[in-house]
Amino acid sequence: MTEVITLYDGYSVMTGKDRMSANCSCTLVKGVNNIVVDTMTAWDSQKIISALDRNNVKPENINYVVSTHGHSDHIGNNNLFLMAKHIVGFSVSFQDEYHMHPFDKGEDFKIDENVKVIPTPGHTLSDVTVIVTSKPSGTIAIAGDLFERFEDIENPNIWLEAGSEDPVQQMKNRSKVADLADWIIPGHGPKFQVTEQIKQTLQKQVGPETPS
Ligand SMILES: [Zn+2]
Repeated sequence: MTEVITLYDGYSVMTGKDRMSANCSCTLVKGVNNIVVDTMTAWDSQKIISALDRNNVKPENINYVVSTHGHSDHIGNNNLFLMAKHIVGFSVSFQDEYHMHPFDKGEDFKIDENVKVIPTPGHTLSDVTVIVTSKPSGTIAIAGDLFERFEDIENPNIWLEAGSEDPVQQMKNRSKVADLADWIIPGHGPKFQVTEQIKQTLQKQVGPETPS
């Protein structure tokens, strides 16, 4: 059985005209492989170690680390996990060995029969999303900043203002991920359930001319 456990909910709040306070959602996938998705800022190592400990997992038991993209609040503690393969955006490595995977050609990276990493560029040009199939809860997309938080479905300015290197691709990938997931864990907010209405709203934002 594959379990998806939220270690920390991400957040982002403006604290002044040109300041914000933000950290990412940090997720543990427990199953055939133990996977940590997004490792917060460099100042959060103790928080991550104790959250893993509460779930009876040690850093050396982690087989994969996935950073959905290379921003500082998503990679801060990757070096806690030295037994793990590291996937940072489109880059796959272990120690100094790099495995060339054609994410840029749209190809998924299969971790095991319940978990895959799919390319979802937009927020950066090399963002990825982790797709987990788990028996009781269905399909869960750990999406990083493809979705900032639930509220950005109705108000696209939230994800656009959070920074998007390719808004058109991001819009398409938001709709694509919503179509294949029952739940989404966004980069900076709590997990939310995908409804028919959410799927339709996102499809409308993409527009009718786009083939699915
Ligand atoms: Zn972020």
